[in-house]
Amino acid sequence: MKHEQTGIMNEDILIIGGGVGGLFTGALLAHEGYKVTVVEKNQTIGGGLQTFTRRGEVFETGMHILGGLRKGGSIYKICQYLGIMDKLSLRDTDDDCFDCITYLDDAKTYRMPTGKVAFTDYLIGEFPHERAGITAYMNALYRLTDEVDFFYLRRGRDYLFSHSEQFLWAADQWIAHYITDKHLRDLLAYMNPMYGGVAGHTPAYIHALINVLYIEGASRFNDGSQQLADALATAITASGGSVHSGVAIVALKDKDRTIQQALAADGSCFTANRYISAIHPCALLKMMSEDAFTKAYRNRLNALPNSYSAFTVYIIFKPDSFPYINHTCYYQQRYGLVWNHAEYDADTWPQGFMYMTSPHRKQGAYARTMIINCIMSFEQVRRWKDTTVAHRGDDYAAWKEAHIQKILARMEILYPGFGNCIDERFASSPLTIRDYYNNKEGALYGFGRDCCNIVQSQLSVVTKVSNLLLTGQNINLHGICGVPLTAVNTVEAILGENTLIDKINAQQI
Ligand SMILES: Cc1cc2nc3c(=O)[nH]c(=O)nc-3n(C[C@H](O)[C@H](O)[C@H](O)COP(=O)(O)OP(=O)(O)OC[C@H]3O[C@@H](n4cnc5c(N)ncnc54)[C@H](O)[C@@H]3O)c2cc1C
Repeated sequence: MKHEQTGIMNEDILIIGGGVGGLFTGALLAHEGYKVTVVEKNQTIGGGLQTFTRRGEVFETGMHILGGLRKGGSIYKICQYLGIMDKLSLRDTDDDCFDCITYLDDAKTYRMPTGKVAFTDYLIGEFPHERAGITAYMNALYRLTDEVDFFYLRRGRDYLFSHSEQFLWAADQWIAHYITDKHLRDLLAYMNPMYGGVAGHTPAYIHALINVLYIEGASRFNDGSQQLADALATAITASGGSVHSGVAIVALKDKDRTIQQALAADGSCFTANRYISAIHPCALLKMMSEDAFTKAYRNRLNALPNSYSAFTVYIIFKPDSFPYINHTCYYQQRYGLVWNHAEYDADTWPQGFMYMTSPHRKQGAYARTMIINCIMSFEQVRRWKDTTVAHRGDDYAAWKEAHIQKILARMEILYPGFGNCIDERFASSPLTIRDYYNNKEGALYGFGRDCCNIVQSQLSVVTKVSNLLLTGQNINLHGICGVPLTAVNTVEAILGENTLIDKINAQQI
């Protein structure tokens, strides 16, 4: 409720950041009877769910491929619990090929089918000499995933020390433990861009969770992911809460490790009993006094490496010129590069990327748009780090154009005549991602998970500030699966362990 004269709001819970984490956490809390206010700095809510429109065409910004949203999946159950599942228009990728991976080196394309058995049989068909290794690898993949109760919305808590030894092996070494064939080792890591995989650092369990998530069934939004953000916002307002866009919180005034109020850039002021930060933790630190957290905690967060970023090309096709493809496509220049995607050489970039045509409710045979995502580290744009959107200068524009050309040259190899199908194309860089989400260095997935230092790269939703909780991709796991699951975790820090999981599981699916 807004006090018109003072601009002060008195709500039970204020959530800072109206992205995936903030909206899921808000909707779940509102559903449980809490009075929730969500504030989002951008004019449009959604964070990774936000779409934008160019010449009437809708483009995703950060949610291209979905997992866990098919019937019975964990995110499906959460959305069903919130009563929003029937408001979403989803399209499943083809079951006989949810992902296709083309290596230019040997002109080989792999077409991965949905489901553990089909996926395993396909790999054995392609690499018959690795039959035993593939079978052992696939079983181990599902075994690692099964160790994470949370992933399946099961009761219980996942303590790092209670996991198998392999859980925290480096994913690349873990794959090599089962597989000898170097091409197959590479192929099994093709989803790296979906979790920011880095050799020697990314834990095996992250590789397992993301692979199983998509092997079990991938989907995409018809006409963009904004519909999920809007459905979550409606769930919040329908329960008496409110969602405010265009409100950037700039300071959280704290005293004796308790937040007193939140101040926004437009001068408005919010007070609440509890505050939940759904933004990058390093951005949160900057808003609070030095006394709020220990020096060790602040140093730790500021020193944690972030996952890599991306350069994205957006394409609007001429009518009826390029076919719609109902799966995601990955391109690799050659084998052996997949663990080093962020390494950059101006002469050889890009050595790999993913691309997809976006579906519509009335999808016909032809695609209207395409998105091409190419991994890039923030280092490539650091020289413009002090610039803001639309004011980055001509040299930046020239740099961007040169990189668009490099990507289109690769697409021309994959699809001769590709350039003739394009009506308009434009691009975003790691700077766009940084400024748009207010995350550090445009990191796609927040803090990188490091098996060499896993305790450091895991955060608790509870903080030393008595009325402050955390949520979002930096806490546990990123993406359409990890962030809603962490929202459950954050809500249970208020409601009590397993209370929400029990309710979600009690519903009829
Ligand atoms: C290019 C790209 C492609 C991706 N593709 C996929 C994919 O295909 N599938 C998948 O599962 N995941 C994908 N992801 C990852 C997914 O988008 C993220 O994991 C997810 O959005 C993280 O949710 P979050 O709530 O932590 O952060 P966000 O969704 O980024 O939300 C944070 C919100 O906080 C707001 N905010 C920041 N500071 C303030 C402030 N001071 N005051 C108020 N509001 C503030 C931001 O504007 C933002 O809206 C992709 C990410 C990117 C960048």
